[in-house]
Amino acid sequence: MGQKILLEHANVPGIKTYEVYRQHGGYRSVEKALKSMTPDEVVEEVKTSGLRGRGGAGFPTGMKWSFIDKKSGKPRHLVCNADESEPGTFKDRYLMEYIPHLLIEGMITSSYALGCNQSYIYIRGEYMWVYRILETAIKEAYAAGWLGKNILGTGWDLDLAVHCGGGAYICGEETALIESLEGKRGNPRIKPPFPAISGLWQNPTVVNNVESIAVVPWIVNNTGAEYAKIGIGRSTGTKLISASGHCKNPGVYEIELGLSVDEFMNSDEYLGGMMDDRPLKALIPGGSSVPILPAHLIFKNAEGGDRLMSYESLSEGGFASGSMLGSGGFIVYNDTTCVVRNTWNFSRFYHHESCGQCSPCREGTGWMEKVLHRIETGHGREEDIDLLWDIQRKIEGNTICPLGDAAAWPVAAAIRHFREEFEYHVRFPERIKDKDHFVHEPFEKVRHLVAKQTV
Ligand code: SF4
Repeated sequence: MGQKILLEHANVPGIKTYEVYRQHGGYRSVEKALKSMTPDEVVEEVKTSGLRGRGGAGFPTGMKWSFIDKKSGKPRHLVCNADESEPGTFKDRYLMEYIPHLLIEGMITSSYALGCNQSYIYIRGEYMWVYRILETAIKEAYAAGWLGKNILGTGWDLDLAVHCGGGAYICGEETALIESLEGKRGNPRIKPPFPAISGLWQNPTVVNNVESIAVVPWIVNNTGAEYAKIGIGRSTGTKLISASGHCKNPGVYEIELGLSVDEFMNSDEYLGGMMDDRPLKALIPGGSSVPILPAHLIFKNAEGGDRLMSYESLSEGGFASGSMLGSGGFIVYNDTTCVVRNTWNFSRFYHHESCGQCSPCREGTGWMEKVLHRIETGHGREEDIDLLWDIQRKIEGNTICPLGDAAAWPVAAAIRHFREEFEYHVRFPERIKDKDHFVHEPFEKVRHLVAKQTV
């Protein structure tokens, strides 16, 4: 049983309420930080912990905090990015829904470290019921004196508001989120300037993911050095993983980074193996935007070493044979999965969610969706596969924000690892039209058919 930091009290009845949360040690980190630490000391603890942003990018949180402009004299803001919209990712929702005070405590302690007096939680529009849970918890925190004026008699004031977005995936990008919070259309800004210098209302701003903020109370209570002892290498601490797809036990898990993918996938403590004991075909370890891995690269890397649940291990081999930990959206696919259909589905999503500011993303996502649909429905041409490859290459790295890359990578990885399945769709349209498309031939048979066919 691994260490539990975030979900330690998740199953305590009534932990959603202030009273029960406080009985279980809640808000101790606020007391400790405000009464016995300077803001810079809190920042140092977070740096020492090695905590990396849990939203997907994995940038060191303490370093991000140290970039905030303290010299301008402008108000500073902490904004919690609760716009969790990545297909396959639902771990922030779980935290906010079941232990809302943990996030609020983290917001208060982190706001103190950053010198903020007005902070925000920006939650996605589809999480309306969670928004209401947070609103209730914030009211409780105000009533108990953890928010408002002169907190704990220290002279420090903090107001915290929760803002519900309109339901756009792009608002998970930090500058689009800031635009949206300002009441504008959620278009990403061109960087620099970065939010730490000019963010919300041109004020210095830090945007952090829910999980990153919720772990700060533990770091303050137990020290960054203790946190750094958990995990492996530069992947310190624990990570929430939301598991879905064809596994026996889908759900949200807290794992110590460094756990083997094999143990996570197959032990009864976690996913319990494959649903109905069907063969594993592929895995997306970090949400829809990271590269899909074929079965032979899931438990072992290309060199035969064990694949671990860590930032480094999952990306070993680069995109040629690796993937990314990303947001921890762990999607399991069995042998009945059509990779072409799955890729088309993702492309449809990214095309729909593109804000349209830059041509490679706006046009490219649309063309990828069209070409994938053509292949998927049995109307594809042999040259369409190379056309798809070209389109994704022209998007990657050529856009204002990472949505372009997020749209390109799944297509590239699907072609790289499952090219025969695309060829099968093009060369044997009668087979895919005749069948329930989710249950077409096993990939080995697909490879065999394609290998035999001379074009
Ligand atoms: Fe908008 Fe896409 Fe450009 Fe991002 S990459 S700014 S979502 S058009």
